[in-house]
Amino acid sequence: MISTWRLIASTIVLSGLALADTCSILKEISNIEVTDPLDLSYLSEQSDYWSTSCSALKPSCIIFPKDADEVSAIVKVLNNNTENFAIKSGGHNPNNGWSSVQGGPLISTQNMKQVILDSETGVARVGPGQRLDSISAALQGTGWTFVGGRIGNTGVGGLVLGGGLSYMSAQYGWAASSVLEYEIVLANGTIATASATQNADLFKALKGGGNNFGIVTTYVLQTYRQGNIFGGNLVFLRTPDTDAKLLKAVRDFTEYNEDDKAAVIVTAERGNIDLIDTWILFLFYDGEVVPEATFKNFTDVGPLLDTTKVQTYADLMAGSNWVIVKGSVVQIGTETIPMPSAEDSEKVMGGIHDHWRNITDTTLLELGIVASIAYQPFPKRIAEAAKERSPDLIDADDSANRLILELNYSFVPQSDYDKMDQTLQQTYGGIRDRVLGWQQDGTLPDIYLPIFMNYGFHQQDYFARLRPENRAFAHSVSESVDPTGFFRTRIGGWKP
Ligand SMILES: Cc1cc2nc3c(=O)[nH]c(=O)nc-3n(C[C@H](O)[C@H](O)[C@H](O)COP(=O)(O)OP(=O)(O)OC[C@H]3O[C@@H](n4cnc5c(N)ncnc54)[C@H](O)[C@@H]3O)c2cc1C
Repeated sequence: MISTWRLIASTIVLSGLALADTCSILKEISNIEVTDPLDLSYLSEQSDYWSTSCSALKPSCIIFPKDADEVSAIVKVLNNNTENFAIKSGGHNPNNGWSSVQGGPLISTQNMKQVILDSETGVARVGPGQRLDSISAALQGTGWTFVGGRIGNTGVGGLVLGGGLSYMSAQYGWAASSVLEYEIVLANGTIATASATQNADLFKALKGGGNNFGIVTTYVLQTYRQGNIFGGNLVFLRTPDTDAKLLKAVRDFTEYNEDDKAAVIVTAERGNIDLIDTWILFLFYDGEVVPEATFKNFTDVGPLLDTTKVQTYADLMAGSNWVIVKGSVVQIGTETIPMPSAEDSEKVMGGIHDHWRNITDTTLLELGIVASIAYQPFPKRIAEAAKERSPDLIDADDSANRLILELNYSFVPQSDYDKMDQTLQQTYGGIRDRVLGWQQDGTLPDIYLPIFMNYGFHQQDYFARLRPENRAFAHSVSESVDPTGFFRTRIGGWKP
């Protein structure tokens, strides 16, 4: 430890250098890798965001700690100044200033990439620098796999802290539900463990609490036995008839599918003056043989293209990265809706989809535009499977089925950020207004509708949509582990 941050604990040195910038101090008193704006590793890390609006923010330096001791040293230096900073794992969160920062230091987790599997128990220690595809590749051939997201390039760091919706969520809950332990660096630089038996409040708060409580340096994950899987995409040309059939099919799947191994994401995309106007479906089955009726409502609609096949999970992850459009500004927002009854499916699902099409009509001349909406079943089983494993802030109940909607806009001109910000707000705001109206007139049940952190736009207030007791709980854990408000005031993201 001493070798990596010589003398850092010395109050004499720190008081002498207090208020000096973090980058200079670390270079002077430690061996931690600190890179400057002209260094190749700075440039490469800086360009590696999903949204170019995040790449446009320029950190004063990028720091690449290799373990918890080095992260602790960095946090102690940060405690002696007032710089804003950011923590980055995969860089997939497109909200500006959350894993990106203008002018202050960026802590990249890229050098913390361990995947250490106990092949007897399936318990894996995973570093926050990992991505879903690289973890799958590391586990390939072991017979074990982990509960992650659906697109390989996403970072494990942010995905798991936001809960994490997986193809396997009906079996095992959120990605966070399978975290057995977190190694975390707290606001004062202490390296702590959070698990069901150590710091249990912090353990719960980290499940759906984002970057508010510390810097996670290791995720200890329960992985699960797995062989080959079935997965891939169906692509449909959009017509009003396809809209109606696929919207009904995803509603029906949410209500009637009883096979926890099956999952779907149903997405619609538009772009470039309607040269793109398609539906793309992601199908997944955790096994080689899919019971015949499972996806019939979707396949019967008649896809133009079908890439589904039996493959390894690692191959599915590696093959999923085509969805990532590079070189665009990306904005993402979300809403959670109650699943409508079969009778009200057309009114609710159709009404929401018409709203989405009406708003996206106004965007089709935007340079490089791709607008998408993803309908993601959130059946009772996910809530049950999460509760069977461990408590989390989302605290979903199994009284009703829900759908999570993910709303994306990608476009090229940075200067249009504010204009598209308004458009995204109108998109999810219009959905929310409709849902509230349908709840009032009895079309939809009046149930708890948390928004899903990983798809939230910075203007949405994640914590305000949690159950009040969980919001208060998150706030009190934050105050207890971070009494000075270090993370609450110095980094981007929603605050409890
Ligand atoms: C193409 C694509 C597909 C997606 N698919 C899914 C999906 O299937 N399921 C799902 O749940 N989500 C999905 N998401 C959303 C994704 O989970 C979030 O964007 C998530 O925040 C990305 O994590 P990251 O590590 O890549 O992002 P980053 O931008 O690096 O980090 C996101 C947030 O987490 C914080 N953070 C990261 N690492 C740490 C750490 N070690 N300690 C403390 N804070 C940290 C950052 O400060 C930031 O606030 C998808 C996103 C994209 C772009």
